[in-house]
Amino acid sequence: MSEAPLDTAITLQGVSKRFGSHVAVHELDLGIQDGEFFSLLGPSGCGKTTTLRMIAGFELPDTGRILLHGDDVTDTQPNKRRVNMVFQQYALFPHMSIYDNVAFGLKMNQIPKGEHRERITAMLRIVELEGLERRRPRQLSGGQQQRVALARALVNSPAALLLDEPLGALDVKLRRTMQSELKRIQRELGTTFVYVTHDQEEALAMSDRIAVMNAGRVEQIGSPREIYDHPETPFVADFIGSLNAFEVVVAEVVGNLAVGRYGDGERVVVAAGTDVRARDTIRVSVRPEQVRIDPVPASTPEHGSRLVGEIAEVVYLGMFTQFKVETAAATILCHRLADEELSACTSGTRVVLTWPVDQTSILAAAPPVPS
Ligand code: ATP
Repeated sequence: MSEAPLDTAITLQGVSKRFGSHVAVHELDLGIQDGEFFSLLGPSGCGKTTTLRMIAGFELPDTGRILLHGDDVTDTQPNKRRVNMVFQQYALFPHMSIYDNVAFGLKMNQIPKGEHRERITAMLRIVELEGLERRRPRQLSGGQQQRVALARALVNSPAALLLDEPLGALDVKLRRTMQSELKRIQRELGTTFVYVTHDQEEALAMSDRIAVMNAGRVEQIGSPREIYDHPETPFVADFIGSLNAFEVVVAEVVGNLAVGRYGDGERVVVAAGTDVRARDTIRVSVRPEQVRIDPVPASTPEHGSRLVGEIAEVVYLGMFTQFKVETAAATILCHRLADEELSACTSGTRVVLTWPVDQTSILAAAPPVPS
């Protein structure tokens, strides 16, 4: 096994965890960079929290190694690891003031009392709670309590902060505010954040990189853009948002492009690797918002995919309108912004759908689910 580079804050090498016969995490390899906002994203039960708890030291892996800045901490006690965890339930001490709640983090780490005031004041300024030092937790709003929990976890300057659905208890509006707050705080301090969430929008909005997990495995790691625009497996594609996914029989391979053909000038074009050949069946995807819709006849681009079909359904969804179009390749969803001029596109209209080559992805088969 290779050693982790020094700018890697957290390394997981072949880390697995079983509970009885259930494999919660399966041979996970991860490298989280120093100063990165890294999210573990996936549905309930996919192993996100177990992964985080192993990094924190609350759970021992059955196999593999965990390194923090290159040091093997697999067998190190949680309180000896330079990481802190923030939970959905903030676990603040109700009888203590905000100041003392934050000071608790310093006391636990035996930081000399003389340093407390300066560090606590600086941290309360960063989380924008100055002036509230003497209040008790019950005198604060949910968002303010979450900030106290953050301040307490960050006041020790941990090498990494592990956050387990920290905004789960907040209402949607406050959640959005706290998302940008968290991001600001992370940027300001430059601390590595490992963030667990099942909310794809949240992960896409906040993260530098995301690991999408399914049934104990990471299916894809990438930037929000990479994950959104080029999902590599059907699971990632489906989990990250609505999209069109369908099978294409390759009619020909031209250079690095695989082309599926359907009647007169209708085609699906996708950039393919060298392993795709004519007559192969591949599974491709395109996001609904990338599909352009025009009533027939329409002048359409020479390159990229082009399908003719009939509108089966038009649904107004506030910001955008969704068109469901039956084509020879598949039923394709197309999302257009509400302010586009598309009054001619009503149910039953024949339309041309087009989208650029780089907006079609090939989906790999999902890895087998561990037993
Ligand atoms: P959620 O978003 O619901 O918290 P998660 O992705 O964080 O889900 P984990 O909490 O890591 O999932 O759990 C992964 C799997 O391991 C689940 O099937 C869970 O039931 C199981 N599991 C977790 N902790 C234990 C435990 N202490 N004992 C037995 N099974 C466990």
